[in-house]
Amino acid sequence: MKRRRFLLASSSIIGAVGAGALYWPNRWRYIVIHHSAGNYGTIEFLQQVHRDRQSGDPVDAIPYHYVIGNGNGLGMGEIASDWRRDFNIWGTHLSENNMARNFLGIGICLVGNFEETDVPAKQLEALVTLTRSLMKTYAIPPGNVDFHGRIEGESTKCPGQRFPYDEFKEAIV
Ligand SMILES: [Zn+2]
Repeated sequence: MKRRRFLLASSSIIGAVGAGALYWPNRWRYIVIHHSAGNYGTIEFLQQVHRDRQSGDPVDAIPYHYVIGNGNGLGMGEIASDWRRDFNIWGTHLSENNMARNFLGIGICLVGNFEETDVPAKQLEALVTLTRSLMKTYAIPPGNVDFHGRIEGESTKCPGQRFPYDEFKEAIV
């Protein structure tokens, strides 16, 4: 049921702005941080997770634009992406309550479950570097860098209670 509403919301946004909007580089206004909620992650693995969770999504790609590894699958601090990033296709990393931010937001996912463990220093460092670089490229202000579970309308703890929110925010200013 939830998936169906999500797809309806997706098609109404595409309908409103035109199919060309799927290929609209340089529109990015937000960055949204996530965790994978699992300890293992590669692009292939997360593609399969996405297929299982959102089987109706016409975009067969990870829902995020970047994944940062933790040494389990991807290397520690390794930054990877797939064709969603290559073609600037909008993300599906937020719920149907935040379609505008899906459409205008770059999704970054850290492999790990930060409800249970701390973010390794090297992985956090890679996140800071990537975020700062994207902020510069697209002129995104620090206030537009968000965490999934702290966005109104989202009911998740992502990226987890042990994510160092304040430390990260200070590092990107
Ligand atoms: Zn998330």
